[in-house]
Amino acid sequence: MRARPPWPGASLEVRGEFSHWSFTREPMTSGPDGWCEAELALSAGVYEYKFRAGEDAWLLDPHNPRTRWRGAARNSVLVVGGTDEPVLHAPTRPDVFVEDDGRLCVRAALRKGSGNRLTLLWSEGSTRCRTEMRAVGSEREHDLFEVHVPGSGRRVTYWFELADGRLVGASGAAGQGLVVDVARATPAAPDWWRDAIVYSVFVDRFRPGNTGGAWRDASRSDRDWRAGGDLIGVREALPYLADLGVNTLHLTPICAAGSVHRYDAVDPRRTADELGGDSALVELLAHAHRRDIRVIVDVALTHVHRDFFAFRDVRERGPASRYWPWFFGYRFPFGEGDRPGYEHYQKGEWHLPLLRTTEPEVQDYLVGTFEHWADMGVDGFRLDAAADVPRDLVASIGRAVRARNPKAALFAEIIPEHGEQWTRDGVHAATDFASQEVLLDWLVRDKRTATDASAELERRRFRSGGPGWTRLALCATHDQPRLATRCDDARDARLGLLHTLLRAPVPLLYYGDEVGLRSTEPDREFEDAWPDRAPMPWRPERWDAQTLAVARKAIALRKEHDALRRGDDVPFDTGHPNVVGWRRQTGHAAGRGVIDVLLHRGQTEATVALQPGDGATSLLTLGDVRLQAGQVTLGPKAAVVIDRRPPTTELGLTLRSHNAALAAHAYERGDAVVPALPARLYITITEACNLRCRHCITEAPALTRSGRARTIAPWVIDALGPALAAADYIGFVHGGESLVSRRLFDVLAAVDRARASTPGRPDIHLVSNGMLLDAEMTERLIDRGVNSIMVSIDGATPETNDRIRVAGKLTRVCANISAALAVRERRGADLRIGISSVIGASNLAEVESIARLAASLGVDWLKLEETYAVNGFARGEAVDPRAPALRRAVDRARRVCEADGLVFVDHVAPPTGCGCQAEGDDSLRAFRTADDFANRARFSACRAAWEQACVDPDGTVRPVDYAREPAGSLLDAPFEDLWNAPSIVAARHRLIAESAADERRRCVESGFGRLDETVC
Ligand code: SF4
Repeated sequence: MRARPPWPGASLEVRGEFSHWSFTREPMTSGPDGWCEAELALSAGVYEYKFRAGEDAWLLDPHNPRTRWRGAARNSVLVVGGTDEPVLHAPTRPDVFVEDDGRLCVRAALRKGSGNRLTLLWSEGSTRCRTEMRAVGSEREHDLFEVHVPGSGRRVTYWFELADGRLVGASGAAGQGLVVDVARATPAAPDWWRDAIVYSVFVDRFRPGNTGGAWRDASRSDRDWRAGGDLIGVREALPYLADLGVNTLHLTPICAAGSVHRYDAVDPRRTADELGGDSALVELLAHAHRRDIRVIVDVALTHVHRDFFAFRDVRERGPASRYWPWFFGYRFPFGEGDRPGYEHYQKGEWHLPLLRTTEPEVQDYLVGTFEHWADMGVDGFRLDAAADVPRDLVASIGRAVRARNPKAALFAEIIPEHGEQWTRDGVHAATDFASQEVLLDWLVRDKRTATDASAELERRRFRSGGPGWTRLALCATHDQPRLATRCDDARDARLGLLHTLLRAPVPLLYYGDEVGLRSTEPDREFEDAWPDRAPMPWRPERWDAQTLAVARKAIALRKEHDALRRGDDVPFDTGHPNVVGWRRQTGHAAGRGVIDVLLHRGQTEATVALQPGDGATSLLTLGDVRLQAGQVTLGPKAAVVIDRRPPTTELGLTLRSHNAALAAHAYERGDAVVPALPARLYITITEACNLRCRHCITEAPALTRSGRARTIAPWVIDALGPALAAADYIGFVHGGESLVSRRLFDVLAAVDRARASTPGRPDIHLVSNGMLLDAEMTERLIDRGVNSIMVSIDGATPETNDRIRVAGKLTRVCANISAALAVRERRGADLRIGISSVIGASNLAEVESIARLAASLGVDWLKLEETYAVNGFARGEAVDPRAPALRRAVDRARRVCEADGLVFVDHVAPPTGCGCQAEGDDSLRAFRTADDFANRARFSACRAAWEQACVDPDGTVRPVDYAREPAGSLLDAPFEDLWNAPSIVAARHRLIAESAADERRRCVESGFGRLDETVC
């Protein structure tokens, strides 16, 4: 960067998001031409910055026309590895990240005046898709857009299309798209942290142990008062905390220190004796873990107490001390009070010397301190003032902690604007003070209307870039006056509690907030909120019972409802200045979890329209609430949490339990709209494969090799729930090899969940290449309900098979089949196993031997299939199905199978037609019977469009088979809607027009039974 100082002799430095604006200055060096220069090494990202001249002149970069407003400030903006104007975007967080459910979120800011639309063109593989981005807010110079795409591939390539059709891709690479690596864009955290509900304990003021909670003096809370709370008291409070519903404790520092807040460590690696010492911590951890409560400790990074061993040495020896470089001494001997000869903590705290955290030895000491507590068994850390230390130190701490406890969580006190820079580097979550300020502006200070507050919360969410758990929501911390103290009315504080507990960020509840603890001094400064560090009252008669009931209920709802635990968080404008609203919803259109929350701060009634949705059942109300058709009326200081799912009706249950019959009934009646879901569901788990068969019809080898293979994402599995509950038959077919992906078992588990309230089990058919189908895998598959397996073999000898099925091993596959059959035998499992062979020129001579091999293995069936001419190899292999040599080989194989009791399926030249047309057609009847046996299915070709659907890994739904036009994506509509999408309904109309009513009746009578009278 180059800039000319604004006046002669002025010093210049660059400050910006790359250095958290203040911690690390980037001084510019002055050249002979009078210009100043700085060189920065930056990874991809969008960075705001300014030049600072002298002490207080902040200048835009005159050579960079790109700017962005943040609140009331306008900054220059540098996009590294991203887009050119008019789009602000870089392919990294916060602009791109993977949600917990696997969807990829893409965000971009579009300069105003560049059109009012932004479309994402994207590709996870070979197909390029377009999805309109959703306008989610605006800043002074930009409109903000967001979209979710499936996230089923390893890489996504994308461009932005402007309203005038221009494409914006990677800067400087004409026409090239931006590329994101999905794995790298996936934020990591221990699972428990994603569901954490944190309770923050100021240890000295929480509970004195062995006293039944009785304080020596509960009337004091000033800074010099040691109230006597300890870790034994925290342990005694665990039943209360478990009953409240919290599952994570944050303890303010517990080390030996100079003050009751203990952020001034004398020995950062020893539990203070007054708190019970190390043994009390060990006891607390054991008891908390028994209750599934995690314990997080707090470590100050920037400063210590004057009695810290290294500073004591410096105080004695001055610059001769080996620890002199650890601190910022500038004059020795040291004094006391103002300017004691060393840099110290702010606000005149001269007894708290600052640590030089860029010093390698200091960094090693701090990292060792975290390792010490991790070894003690704590579950995580709060990094105090993490924004004020180098990011590489924070990253080292993260690595060291995770090396000792991979399930440890780290959250950091980070001034909120740039939290993602730390959460990208090793911290899981950042304290969201900015959203707390928005809440205070709306609820307490009357500085924002509800519309303003919602818009600002949306902007904050947009810029934070990550799932909800990357932020912590709070009403107050130990450093601030409590919300109840700031509010004149306890009802307002309850609204604030709901705001904290029911949004997407991990909620942090400050001890006592749940029982209405408050002081009378709302104007205390940050870090001086001593009146609000009052002893926790332990006599229930001193609790605000209504506030406690609200906190308990809200926590219980958060645990109970997926939408509140993990759902998206979308603020909406209620149209009323006193009513804030937001929607929590699972991240797909299946609509299985939608919850709206409305808070009303006004003193008079407010009526607002309900957001779009089917049902409206209140889960929690505060004050007077009336839910009427399409609207809700909130009394003064009222709130409501509304479940927006359609109520489960008797009809809905009937649909589920008679799904297949309803579809058949609709077909018989000639109804193109079906009040049911597919009875047969084909799901591609993954397009990746561990083999490279030369005749592969699915492109799996090429997709795997190029990294473009897609795999089903968690959100697709979730969105499939209703379809899994309704289907009689689920087939995991050959997009790739299902067994290479653990998602197969996620889907099977989802089938179990979905069927919990549905009678019967579906038949589950798995197509596999057999390489991973060992005994253990077979056991797991049986346990999860798989009852039909087809294994592919294309030769009777390894030479033939392994040449066609590259990377396949016939000996291993045969050994696996034998093992699978042995497992079946031992367990008496209802599992059908067969072999399918694609017949071509290479293995024509081995057809009979393949049949003998199948018989010797003891499988239930053998299917011979035609070669599809999908590539040069396959075209060379293709044999005319009527060729005498082929017919003779097939007949010999048939005889072998018949002699050994195997069902034989001649799929080389299969007769076409529906089973209902088999009367009088022996060959069709035989084929249909054998083929249905092998697939463990019952196909009815006539009405497949009523009964059969296929799902791609990215959630695309197609009727009948994978060659049909898609009906749409589960990201955009629930399965129920896609199954009656206009294209499918039109296709059904055509089929109805081509068939006579009695033909349809005959088809139904030959297949599924009719609906019984009661269901009709
Ligand atoms: S096992 Fe199936 S998906 Fe894999 S390469 Fe062979 S034919 Fe293709």
